Amino acid sequence: MIHRLSTLFVRTLRDDPADAEVPSHRLLVRAGYIRRAAPGGYTWLPLGLRVLHRIERIVREEMDAIGAQEVHFPALLPREPYDASGRWTDYGPNLFRLQDRRGVDYLLGPTHEEMFTLLVKDLYGSYKDLPVWLYQIQTKFRDEARPRAGLLRGREFVMKDSYSFDLDDEGLQRSYDAHRAAYVRLFARLGLDVVIVKAMSGAMGGSASEEFLSPCASGEDTFVRCTACDYRANTEAVRIGTPPAVDAGTTPPARVVDTPGTPTIQTLVDVLNSRDDLRRTTGTWTAADTLKNVLVMLRNPDGIRQPLAIGVPGDREVDMKRLEAAVAPAEVDAFGDADFAARPGLVKGYIGPDVLGETKPLGVRYLLDPRVVSGTAWVTGANEAGRHTVHLVSGRDFTADGTIDVADVRDDDPCPSCGSAMSIERGIEMGHVFQLGRKYAEVLGLNVLDDKGKQRVVTMGSYGVGVSRAVAAIAESHHDELGLRWPRSVAPMDVHVVIAGKPGDDTAATAGRVAAELSDAGLQVLLDDREGVSPGVRFKDAELLGMPMIVIAGRGVAKGVLEVRDRIAGTTVELPIGDVAKHVIACCA
Ligand code: ATP
Ligand code: MG
Repeated sequence: MIHRLSTLFVRTLRDDPADAEVPSHRLLVRAGYIRRAAPGGYTWLPLGLRVLHRIERIVREEMDAIGAQEVHFPALLPREPYDASGRWTDYGPNLFRLQDRRGVDYLLGPTHEEMFTLLVKDLYGSYKDLPVWLYQIQTKFRDEARPRAGLLRGREFVMKDSYSFDLDDEGLQRSYDAHRAAYVRLFARLGLDVVIVKAMSGAMGGSASEEFLSPCASGEDTFVRCTACDYRANTEAVRIGTPPAVDAGTTPPARVVDTPGTPTIQTLVDVLNSRDDLRRTTGTWTAADTLKNVLVMLRNPDGIRQPLAIGVPGDREVDMKRLEAAVAPAEVDAFGDADFAARPGLVKGYIGPDVLGETKPLGVRYLLDPRVVSGTAWVTGANEAGRHTVHLVSGRDFTADGTIDVADVRDDDPCPSCGSAMSIERGIEMGHVFQLGRKYAEVLGLNVLDDKGKQRVVTMGSYGVGVSRAVAAIAESHHDELGLRWPRSVAPMDVHVVIAGKPGDDTAATAGRVAAELSDAGLQVLLDDREGVSPGVRFKDAELLGMPMIVIAGRGVAKGVLEVRDRIAGTTVELPIGDVAKHVIACCA
């Protein structure tokens, strides 16, 4: 089919939109694929919608190929099932809640575990019905704290979500493996490189889970790769393991020392190293010898706030994403001046373990980084301005309420699996596969009769793909300084034919003939037949719009040739007019 640019509902923009921080957002808006309609909500224009539909089709084909069956739920859902699972509350401010005219509570579905569980419960009752795999491609709603980067993190977005239902753990493993393999195939077809990483299960509950991340500098997730073994994990899910306890037999007794003007780790280290009475027998003091106690406020889904203190070696920071993942569904707020004012026992910059812990008068829960093992000695705040305690030994001089593994993970940190160096990268979460287990089936009463006539709770898996996010993620990995560069599998059109001559010459007629030939061969052809638009603007737009092939009918027509650019390979050739269609068709095959 031929689509004429003169009538296509699209306007390209010369300038980047002011709110666009990442290339995909800039390019999709500039090229007229999407328009912002609301915070975190985008309108699909014809070209954008074609890409979305092509992605949906590939996702559908791969789900159908493993035997999953498509259904479709409403987005507007009743409250009760989400009360039963606890997610009406646990989702906290991320859930769009609303009421109908009679004051009955509803929500806009953020994901549909509850509804699928109830649907299967409605219709199935025997082990003979299982396994069954159901999926939908549907609009989801989440009141994200930070909608950003256009389609990458919306408040309304398209997700493919599937759910597997099995009688036993082996069945669940098979269902999980089938989905995982389908995801490998579908992301390859979308032209997305993905790394499969160990993941946290977040608000979903459940056990084993992996994410498919597309490596990309503008991704919001960070993940580690071991440089030696096959360990790959989202940094949220990295568990560093507990080092062996240390013998503190030779560590001197703890002592409080004056360290005026040392509210930061660096000022403290400098003072320690400048003092004769604190000189170490071996080496100098470093930030790693200090214990930094970081305070945050946790906000539970019910709105109740609780303080939390986290003790980490002073050369590390608390990684807020790791912390958020560890304490979910609670959210993390900064520990503000008002929070300090309400607890005068906490001296900013000089907080030490003496005042921390649930059993202490302040009642501040205190958790330690796993590196702070029994026997390790630390320099830490003495809970008075300008004073620190040295030689404070974990287990001997202080204890905490437990451990929490949320310090930052860095390049060259040891791999939890083999001890070799790890490297850190950023990525975009494209898909997520979970072994949910029996959590939802239990609370919603999804049982089937087994072959002995006994009631058995069904075990479930849940598998998501970010379909609208994929449009942006593909654009992130398939563009250059000139514009988009769609892989053939998802491009809105196969070929862009540009008329670049003067009025009255043969270029328009030649371009029209080639376009017709391509269209007859089944290709989707975008023909730039706009009047009053200079060749320069046409070339720029062709590059911006990003079809995989561009055919230019320009000055060469007089010599009997057309220019053919392959945007993916980055090549340009001149071909006799009669050979162009054959060449393009072969490239698109
Ligand atoms: P994230 O960690 O990025 O917030 P999530 O873990 O909450 O995502 P899931 O519940 O696993 O997301 O949803 C399945 C898939 O849906 C994700 O892998 C992602 O591709 C996509 N997705 C999730 N949230 C959004 C969003 N706000 N905008 C666009 N796509 C999203
Ligand atoms: Mg996820």
